[in-house]
Amino acid sequence: MAHLCVYCGSRANSDEHVVPQWLTAEMPPWYDLNDSQRTILASGKMRWISHPFGTTTVRVCARCNSGWMSDLEGQVKDFLLPMLFGMKESLTRTEQQILATWVWKTLMMFEQATHPAQPVIPAHHYTYLYQHRRPSLRRTMMRLVRVAPPQKERREVSLAFRTTPIATEGAEPAGYIAHLRLFHLGFQIVSLDLPDGHTLAPPDDDESGLVALWPPRDTLTWPPKQAFPTNVWESLYTATGPFEISSGPIDSDELGQNVP
Ligand SMILES: [Zn+2]
Repeated sequence: MAHLCVYCGSRANSDEHVVPQWLTAEMPPWYDLNDSQRTILASGKMRWISHPFGTTTVRVCARCNSGWMSDLEGQVKDFLLPMLFGMKESLTRTEQQILATWVWKTLMMFEQATHPAQPVIPAHHYTYLYQHRRPSLRRTMMRLVRVAPPQKERREVSLAFRTTPIATEGAEPAGYIAHLRLFHLGFQIVSLDLPDGHTLAPPDDDESGLVALWPPRDTLTWPPKQAFPTNVWESLYTATGPFEISSGPIDSDELGQNVP
């Protein structure tokens, strides 16, 4: 069955690598890329796929794939690679936006590759990403974690993702919480279906080692002093709200864009 591009709605005719090839080529030597056992966590259950580094999905069109998606890979590479290896980096607002957008896009491609029939990330978020080339400043927040390097165990989970729906509970709005692990870098995204005029409070850096990524601020400094052991990072998978929500107009539009 022919699919439509999840971003622009044209005919999907392009093979997109879920994990970009430039990243696969730079994998640290202590990860065996030929190992067929890689953990992929999808929507509440474990999934095993043989070679996630080679996984592709035909859910985008050639124009998106070789256009803005390819540009995004080119833009993120210069600072994402050193971050993956734990090197000191400081990211500008623009770089934070590029990284947050890349993480969101990569999570979407994982969903399309593993459980396209029941995606947790709603279709209109793909359209939003395509139109705005960034996550919402009002409804979405992201945090970064440095996951501790492997200790004794030789086999470390190198790549994992999970998207979990957040159900409406009392006054709590619905949405989803998503996690992406790439080697020593862990990302957490929270996106809530907030009515107009309501804003999800921006995250703060905290002493445990959580680093706020989105909405962007003047400078983001990496890496944090504290690293999360793998099990502590994985415990974040089930952590949800309550989330702090404020009402009233969002005060900054420093990216010079509209704030839907
Ligand atoms: Zn497209």
